[in-house]
Parts: sequence; structure tokens; C-alpha cells
Amino acid sequence: MSVAPIRNIVIVGGGTAGWMSAAALSKVIGPTAKIHLIESDEIASIGVGEATIPNIKNFNRALDIDEDDFLRHTQGTFKMGIEFVNWHKLGARYMHAFGRVGQDLGAVGFFHYWQKMHELGQASAFGKYAINALAPVNGKFMRAPSDMPNSPLNDITHAFHFDAGLYAKYLRAFAEKRGVLRTEGRIVNTVLREGDGFIDAVVLESGQRIEGELFIDCSGIRALLIGHALGCEYEDWSQWLPCDRAIAVPCESVSPLLPYTRSTAHSAGWQWRIPLQHRIGNGHVYSSRFMGQDEATAILMNNLDGPALAEPRYIPFVPGRRRQTWTRNCVAIGLSSGFFEPIESTNIHLIQTAIARLIAMFPNSEFSPVDRDEYNAQTQFEYERIRDFIVLHYKATERDDSPFWKHCSAMPIPATLQHKIDLFCNNGHVYRENNELFAEMSWLQVMHGQGLHPRSYHPLVDARSLDEIGAYLADIENVVKKCVEVMPTQEEFIAQHCAAKPMV
Ligand SMILES: Cc1cc2nc3c(=O)[nH]c(=O)nc-3n(C[C@H](O)[C@H](O)[C@H](O)COP(=O)(O)OP(=O)(O)OC[C@H]3O[C@@H](n4cnc5c(N)ncnc54)[C@H](O)[C@@H]3O)c2cc1C
Repeated sequence: MSVAPIRNIVIVGGGTAGWMSAAALSKVIGPTAKIHLIESDEIASIGVGEATIPNIKNFNRALDIDEDDFLRHTQGTFKMGIEFVNWHKLGARYMHAFGRVGQDLGAVGFFHYWQKMHELGQASAFGKYAINALAPVNGKFMRAPSDMPNSPLNDITHAFHFDAGLYAKYLRAFAEKRGVLRTEGRIVNTVLREGDGFIDAVVLESGQRIEGELFIDCSGIRALLIGHALGCEYEDWSQWLPCDRAIAVPCESVSPLLPYTRSTAHSAGWQWRIPLQHRIGNGHVYSSRFMGQDEATAILMNNLDGPALAEPRYIPFVPGRRRQTWTRNCVAIGLSSGFFEPIESTNIHLIQTAIARLIAMFPNSEFSPVDRDEYNAQTQFEYERIRDFIVLHYKATERDDSPFWKHCSAMPIPATLQHKIDLFCNNGHVYRENNELFAEMSWLQVMHGQGLHPRSYHPLVDARSLDEIGAYLADIENVVKKCVEVMPTQEEFIAQHCAAKPMV
């Protein structure tokens, strides 16, 4: 027997989460359901999520968004990885590069061969074996060339930096063109149905009542529906993620335009640097238990590359997640569902996967609890593995120059993370669990970059002679170097493909 489909979707909130949801649903569900988005001009969106990871290209592809057009409209730039400065110890830096590093040989991963030669003092730095690590520090960028399938340049893996406000505007135009109806107004009440407590309607300050069958809560940190109206609990993860404040400020651009995000650790947190075409986005994420606002502001303002373009903005947050992100007829997407500090640019990705999951398990008017429970279980797994990856950056450090870093290196960590660290420290093994976000190469780069050392390497490495392994490493290093030499600078590449108009 067929059950009535959902015909009326209401999205609350018009930040990145709201407009990504509206754009994707309008594309996929199209004319079969009415999509209504409500946002309030009085309540600004958070406006700081500006760095992404490569999976965002799947979102663009699913929506048939032309990459160059999108970059032109969002003052966007390319990102090949994240550089971590002063995290392992003061003065140390490493790149968490997207894509692969080196090349596996037979059944054994590249890292094991590198590890052996590194111990013997016969290997270059790990990042010398990846285009994605060497090119960005030289300001070089190009896309993987689709017309040269056998070229090592095809290893190039990229994501984007973009202006969050312009991104929401771009997706809004996309969604409205496909029939999404937008209403401006402040929601002051949520009406629940008698009996099952499903959401019936939201009521605006003007008195307008907007009814729906499925509600998507994209109201940001306020969590208007999932938190306030439906009372879904928020799980606080600050015992593992010590930072709870951010200060954001844009500054003028400088040359060269570096195609990576930089994260520089300070004495009670860290600073992000996100270069766009028209400005650099900066922010200081810190722990209010260990530093006051004035000191945190001074550190940020003293570490800008150019003159500030606005007053600093102060953003308090609680790291953690909603215990259920789908309850009754409401799905929370974006900050209403949880928040990780942006050290690995995972939050926009979580919006994207929440949308994909919702589409895959799209409910009918029965709202099957089985689908809902599966949705929540998958979301929880995804959050917990990302949490572990982020906690790793704080825990695995040799810094002991401030009470904050002493606290981080001594804090207890989730058992799942401890297991990963134990495996790596034993003989360099890392395993990706199910479809967790970060692949082995990401874990390896961060574990190594943060100063963890395996006691040994894979025993099969010793089956090859030192000469053979040395030649194999030298060959990869040489190919990477040559590739980077022929690549254009990011400035040249953008000028040729996707230069944005200057902002007026
Ligand atoms: C400091 C910081 C840095 C970050 N950096 C990154 C990053 O580099 N990469 C990344 O992936 N993510 C990052 N994020 C996360 C990212 O910013 C968010 O995931 C993303 O912007 C989604 O936000 P949102 O749409 O959920 O909420 P918001 O942008 O806050 O939007 C909320 C919307 O709800 C509306 N609203 C709220 N209340 C009402 C009401 N009563 N009536 C009507 N409308 C209402 C508002 O008008 C607004 O439109 C960062 C977050 C922070 C805090």
C-alpha cells in the first residue's frame, strides 16, 4: 500500500545550512514538494564557515554547479590542505594535505617505507612526497588535468575557501530559481500537534502561520525547533575539546595567494587564516578557561597579515552535538545539530552529509521510526569519528609552555581515539573504520605531524633492499618536485579561470 508522500517542507534559517538544504532539495525533489525557507534579517547568520574539504565538490557536482562560476560569485580560492604551525611544538609545522602522499608499493603502504628510511636518516620530510603538500607552500595550484589521465598531476586534490555570505547568496539564487519560496520574518512560536508532538507550524512575529509536514531546523546555534521546541538534548564535549570562544576578523589580502588554510597554535587555542580573492578571513579560537577575551583579541589583532577590514566579532560556542538530529518530523542540519571547532573544516561537510542522508532516507508521511533511528545512528558515528580526529590535534603535543597545553596533553581521551593511537604507535598502522570521514592518509599525516612515532614499521618492508627503497622514494620525490615546478601560481590560475569582480 502506498503511503502519502511529503508535499510540504519548511526550512527554518537562511545561513549556509539553510540555503545548502534548500538548493539540494529543490534540485532533487523539485516540483513534487513545496519548499519554504524562513529567515530573519534581524538575526544574522554566523557568517564564518569559509574553508571546506574536497567532498564539497560532490555537492557541486550533484547540483550541476559550475566550479568557476561558483568561485567567481563567492570570491573563492582553492585549498590543497591545512598547514599546522606550532601544534607539535613551538616552531614546528606540517601540512595535512588532501589526497595521497607517496605511492604504495606492493601490499605495503608508502608510510612504512618512508618510516624505515626516515629512521635511517635517508628520507626527506614526509610532505616532499605529495604534490598537495609541496605545491601550496610554493603558492602553486592547478586542477587535476582531466585530459592527462596518466599524469601524476592527477593526484591533485582540492577544496575551496569562499565568502560565507556570498555563498548563501549564490545558493539562494539557485534555490529560488527552482521554486523555493523565501519568507523574511522572525519566528516567535512553534506549534506542536496534540498527541504525538510533531511540529504543525511555526508562527512569525507578524502573526503569519506557516504549516509544514517536514521541518528542517537550520536556525544555527539557537536550535529553535530541535532544541527549544522539541527539547532534544545537547551533549557537551568540552572535556575533550577545550575551546569555547572564537573571535573573527577579516584583513586585507597579501601576495602570494596561498592555496591552503593555515592554523597557528597560540598559548590557549589557535588562529585560522583563510585567504580569499578579496580579503583574508582570520579568527582566534580559544579556551575561556585559560584566556580572557582582551588577551585573545590582542593576539589575533597582532597576528594579521594586513590591516583589519572590520571590528572583531565575538562568537561563544559549546563543542558537542545534539543526541538526536532527527526527531518526530524535524531534522536538524548545521549548527543546530552540533558544532566542532573549525580546525579541520568539517562543519560544512556535515551539512552536506546530513542533506545526502536525508535525501537517501527521505520520509513519507508515516515518518518511520526505523529510518529515523538509522539516520541518527549514522550521524552519531560520523560525529564521533570526526571528534576523535580533532581531539588528536590537542592531545598529541609536546607543548608544555602554557597551562592550556599542559591540560590538553594530560586530558583523558575517548577510547576509540586511544585505540587508533595505540595501533599507530605500535607499528604505524591506521585503519579507516567503515565510512568515517578521514582516510588513513589524513590520520597518518596528523599523527606524524603532531610528533607521534611508531615503534616499528611493517615487517614486509625489510623484504626489499635499502637501495631499492631509496630509489623508489627518490623517484617519487623527483616526480613531485617536477610537477610543482610546471604548475602555475594560484594567482595565475585564478586570473585565467575564475577571477571575481572586485567588491564595491
Ligand atoms: C568561529 C567559527 C568558524 C567556522 N569555520 C568553519 C569553517 O572554516 N569551515 C566549516 O566547514 N565550518 C565552519 N564553521 C561552521 C559553519 O560556520 C556553519 O556550519 C555554517 O555556517 C552553518 O551555519 P548555520 O546555517 O547552521 O547557522 P547560521 O549561519 O547561524 O544561520 C542561522 C539562520 O537561522 C535564522 N534564524 C535564527 N533564529 C531565527 C528566528 N527566530 N526566526 C527566523 N530565522 C531565524 C537566521 O536568520 C539565520 O538565517 C565555523 C563556525 C564557527 C562558529
